[in-house]
Amino acid sequence: MSIEVRNLSKQFGDFAALRDVSLEVRTGELLALLGPSGSGKTTLLRVIAGLEAADAGHVLFQGEDATGQHVRDRQVGFVFQHYALFRNMTIFENVAFGLRVRAKNARPTNTEISDRVHDLLKLVQLDWLADRHPHQLSGGQRQRVALARALAVEPKVLLLDEPFGALDAKVRKELRAWLRRLHDEMHITSVFVTHDQEEALEVADRVVVMNEGHIEQIGTPDEVYEQPASPFVYEFLGKVNLFHGRLHKGRAWIDGIEVDAPEHIEAEELAAVAYVRPHDIHVDRVVNGSGALAAHVSHILSVGPIVRLELIRDGDGDNSKELIQVEISKERFRELQLTRGDRVFIKPSRFDLFPAKIH
Ligand code: ADP
Ligand code: MG
Repeated sequence: MSIEVRNLSKQFGDFAALRDVSLEVRTGELLALLGPSGSGKTTLLRVIAGLEAADAGHVLFQGEDATGQHVRDRQVGFVFQHYALFRNMTIFENVAFGLRVRAKNARPTNTEISDRVHDLLKLVQLDWLADRHPHQLSGGQRQRVALARALAVEPKVLLLDEPFGALDAKVRKELRAWLRRLHDEMHITSVFVTHDQEEALEVADRVVVMNEGHIEQIGTPDEVYEQPASPFVYEFLGKVNLFHGRLHKGRAWIDGIEVDAPEHIEAEELAAVAYVRPHDIHVDRVVNGSGALAAHVSHILSVGPIVRLELIRDGDGDNSKELIQVEISKERFRELQLTRGDRVFIKPSRFDLFPAKIH
């Protein structure tokens, strides 16, 4: 089942929680809504579910307008951050609940319920705990039960709101990989809310980056990470270095380096900022070609295959106080034989230019 969201807006009093939000979730896709706290993720999920009415816009399921449709009829499964399992029921009964409360003519027989619940518990690898109660399970296990419970009623769409948010880092990582595998088996159209960049990039087919009630960018994990559409996305999705300069008619001067900026052909004498990922900075011991910046090494963190360097710019220009974060391969690090305090020359190998924010 595909989901289409068209021009949704939602106010809470004077506050705009959603501002003209449009997106599409393809059939069988796992889409992540990623953004900082307060960016409107939960509100958007609740409007899709039918738990909240939008002020304007439409939600379509498989091309049909669901705006007037009741939550009950949308065939949506939910998993929330706080696994609201029934404490006095066994794990088995928790998962069976949605089927037991169905109207008599739509209710499966006891045998059918039992079969389905056991199948689901096997799917989430908890069949052996069917007779236990929620308090006897770990947090991660409880979230898997919550997922089995959501799946029991055979939803067409699965909505997950920070489902791993309350768990510790190690369990979260395990569940993330596990959810990805589960989704690959079931292919239920799913929307997954998180404020954790790594989680979104690792789990989702596509990521929707939200900020202050609007969408900054939609793309595959690789696209949003490698080609951020805005300064916000750059800064939200990983480490980035900012180099200041100016733009004029399709040319830019960033710290004395002159570059083409054809997408800014209209710009006239604008302050600009180059955004550069740590792995897109070339480091050398000697000046190689023109426009290299002098710096010295202030810190080296060498764990795993990537070596992280912190550099301080030489000179006393506007940019000199800012630390520059660089990532190079261990191989390159050995080649350069760097130690703390060494002088280096750096050059951004890839960057995006944005007009500077005016404060
Ligand atoms: P997120 O899930 O991204 O953290 P939410 O969608 O929960 O963001 O909230 C977006 C904004 O809307 C927040 O500033 C929040 O305080 C506000 N908000 C959400 N629900 C309500 C409500 N029922 N009444 C008033 N304000 C709300
Ligand atoms: Mg939320």
